[in-house]
Amino acid sequence: MPDNQNIIHTLSSATINQIAAGEVVQRPSSVVKELMENAIDAGATKIDVIIQDAGRTLIQVIDNGKGMSPDDSVKAFERHATSKISDAEDLFALTTMGFRGEALASIAAVSRVELKTRRQADELGSRVEINGGELALQEMINCQAGTQILVKDLFYNIPVRRKFLKKNETELRNILNIFEQIALVYPGICLTLTNNGSTIFNLGKENYRQRIASVCGDKTGKELLTIDVDTVLAHISGFISTPDTTVKKSPSQYFFVNGRYIQHPYFAKAVSLGYDRLIPADSKPQFFIYFDVEPDKIDVNIHPTKTEVKFEDEQSLFPIIVSAVKEALASSCSMPGLMFDQEDRIEIPVAPVDFSGLQTPPVTRNTNYNPFSSHSSASSHAAKPVTGWERLYDGTSKEEEILKSSDRLAGYEIVDSVKPLFRGFVYNGKYIVCSSDKGVLLVNSYRASLRIAYDRLSKMIESGHSEGQMLLFPEILELTATENVTFLENKSLFESVGYGFEEFGNTAYKLTSVPSSLVGDYINSIKELLSDPELCNVRESFRERMLMSLAKKSTPQSVVNGSEEAEKIISELFKSRTPSVTPQGLPIFFELDSDFIKNKIG
Ligand code: ADP
Ligand code: MG
Repeated sequence: MPDNQNIIHTLSSATINQIAAGEVVQRPSSVVKELMENAIDAGATKIDVIIQDAGRTLIQVIDNGKGMSPDDSVKAFERHATSKISDAEDLFALTTMGFRGEALASIAAVSRVELKTRRQADELGSRVEINGGELALQEMINCQAGTQILVKDLFYNIPVRRKFLKKNETELRNILNIFEQIALVYPGICLTLTNNGSTIFNLGKENYRQRIASVCGDKTGKELLTIDVDTVLAHISGFISTPDTTVKKSPSQYFFVNGRYIQHPYFAKAVSLGYDRLIPADSKPQFFIYFDVEPDKIDVNIHPTKTEVKFEDEQSLFPIIVSAVKEALASSCSMPGLMFDQEDRIEIPVAPVDFSGLQTPPVTRNTNYNPFSSHSSASSHAAKPVTGWERLYDGTSKEEEILKSSDRLAGYEIVDSVKPLFRGFVYNGKYIVCSSDKGVLLVNSYRASLRIAYDRLSKMIESGHSEGQMLLFPEILELTATENVTFLENKSLFESVGYGFEEFGNTAYKLTSVPSSLVGDYINSIKELLSDPELCNVRESFRERMLMSLAKKSTPQSVVNGSEEAEKIISELFKSRTPSVTPQGLPIFFELDSDFIKNKIG
């Protein structure tokens, strides 16, 4: 009976042309995204995602959705075969995740696919095998209701594409990002994610707040303020972080439109504006904001992977978002000083308004962003300060200069020479001034100490002899699933500088020792590193980042205490292979050479 209820049809070629073609399968995470979205469109309440080798060898998605008829199970793999739209008009009333009818065809073209599917009412299900887009087999089988798709050996027939895949860690992280984006919109769907047999996520049916906590960690989940605004343009709901739970690095910032994760830098700006002056300039708010909009008020078609969505009236939405954030913050009991008077209450516009002064910035992303490249090479830095000093002397009479310098000499402390060559003193508690074989050296003692600490730590990693201090009261490091992936990749690196961990539940660890020089909040200094996805993608960068952050945390900004300390700093600094620049590439000292001095004062 159900056989004649087939629901899939092929789109007309006119419609096909109206749909901008996009690359569907770029990497394993794109497969995960398409298959999870199909399961959601099929009304599944439970979706299991199982992958091997970060999706390289296997991606399996099992759902309990409505399943397909045997005929549809084959037709589903034809290009532009979809049950979701019939013509371009439908594009403006989309309520489903997919609609192009391209995903299964594209996936099947570049892998070996096995599909098992059965509708609830059917007695038998259908099994289909497709290799590189060619139908290899279809048979009737006994199987559970719903759909199971197995995608094996991705890009097996396109070696060039396979070569472009990143390291497993990176591909796994991409999958985790996609999984989280979906998990955060569908808290009512039970979701699991398993990689190489180990469970990364096991999420039951929960509410939004609980789901945010399960995905982004309890700390983020617990301290959220609610947003809920209804306007004719959109229903905006969700959560924002309290001013004291903003973060410095990689905040969780999510926008969703009609159940789809989107990126929207312009609206992100609106949220930040809402926090205006309530948080330090270097802190970033976290937010999970869900827009419900009439499907015809947005254009989901502007980007092939659909993460950038254009709203019909973005300029009117902008101030609405700012106000909604301000209101949520004002009504938060955690900030009594910020309670707004009723009179000062911001009116949330409920009808489109003309805010033509506000410009929607174009969406640009710098894919070549390298946090280290902004620092120019050591030599160019080292040369710069000298110019500054030349200017300092310009136009000043020698007498004046002598006066000033003798003024400054008051309070100087004479430092015993480090080597016979270094005879010097500490200026302002911060600079060490000493002689060198070519002239006079001015050394920034804090930067020098950073270099020393960095070198010591990096030697420790190279030698394999870590120095840790045992913690009398071990602290608990609780990680999110994503942080845990980065953590496990880099655990040995942490251990090599003196950290000690003991397992403490699924994604929690007991911190038993820390690097001996480290001061401050141990747990946060680890978390800061783990939540830096840009840098975690490259192992080398992670090492650099870790060393840099540890060096900073082991180096107090305080003044140099006495000649002994200054002497030690100078002698340690000049044991370094690169004494002239800090690990970030900032100059540590500069030299007034004797020719320069002679030129100035004879
Ligand atoms: P689209 O999702 O854009 O329609 P796809 O290639 O992803 O295109 O899927 C083609 C069709 O196959 C869908 O329209 C749907 O009818 C059917 N289909 C795919 N996955 C599932 C699933 N998990 N459960 C039920 N039907 C599915
Ligand atoms: Mg689809």
